[in-house]
Amino acid sequence: MTLKIHEIIDAHSHVAASNDQLAAFVQENNLRFIGICVSHMEGTAWRQQREDQYIGAQKSPNNIAWITAIDVPDYTNDWAERQIAILEEDIARGAIGCKLWKNIGMMLKKPDGSFLHLDDDIFEPVYNWLEQHKFPLMIHAAEPRPVWEDIPEDHPMYNYYRVNHPELYMFDKPDHPHFDDIMAARNNVMNKHPNLIVVGAHYGSQEADLDAMSKMFDTYPNYYVDTSGELRIALIVENDREAIRAFFDKYQDRIMFGTDIGDRPARPNPAEQEDIDNCKASFIDKLQQGLDYYQSDKTVQAKNRQCPGLALSPEICQKIFIDNALRLYPNLNW
Ligand SMILES: [Zn+2]
Repeated sequence: MTLKIHEIIDAHSHVAASNDQLAAFVQENNLRFIGICVSHMEGTAWRQQREDQYIGAQKSPNNIAWITAIDVPDYTNDWAERQIAILEEDIARGAIGCKLWKNIGMMLKKPDGSFLHLDDDIFEPVYNWLEQHKFPLMIHAAEPRPVWEDIPEDHPMYNYYRVNHPELYMFDKPDHPHFDDIMAARNNVMNKHPNLIVVGAHYGSQEADLDAMSKMFDTYPNYYVDTSGELRIALIVENDREAIRAFFDKYQDRIMFGTDIGDRPARPNPAEQEDIDNCKASFIDKLQQGLDYYQSDKTVQAKNRQCPGLALSPEICQKIFIDNALRLYPNLNW
């Protein structure tokens, strides 16, 4: 028995399918995406994503679920209160979780000029609310560790970080928080909130370090990760293949498949036909790439690396591609 793309759940995407053509496409092909909002800039501009995700989920309730976010702190007195109002509203509108992004720990500064970290007191009312409501918190903390190292030209991360996004490249920014500081801040949050359900996006940025991830799972029973996206396949293969297979075997209840694909160029109506067609093609390609890598023994091209498929057992695939997401997100009613 092998899974097909119309049977699985993409637990980390940025697909809203608010566009009518894309809504029809996900329905006809039985694709299921959890689309995630990213509070990517100061102010409230991210809330457009929130509306798109909500509209997409209304159009295709069997295909689109969504995870909301909160505003970046603006240090006004009622900030926390307003964020909890967003969460209250979005729970009622069907959101299944809340996401914090890597700008916390890597980019955002406090009024005193120091970097804002995940364990800052300002987030405490939000964490308390999430913990009380058993509303899962997805945390995209940091970036893969090589961002703090001298990335060579043949590395799969070279183009993205050194050529296209030098603002995210930290090797030449020693005044910015280090990878280990960001991991420690995330762990402080979990130490303080033992009942908070935390999903580490992109393997919690520890994809190349199976021991570190194992330690996270062993220390924090409420910690999960998603596998999104192509870069993480290219990095996890730095581990021995048998060690990766053993890792999946041991932690098969804690890992969810994700692609990190999005459809933002095609939101909302009207959109360019070319953007819509590109989205459709990428949905199919990336879902299949993930199935091939985790489920089969085919060699998959991820970034500039050849990655031999893990051929995980049908039982493990059933969990990471479907069951874990259904179990972890209580408000996901698929
Ligand atoms: Zn993402």
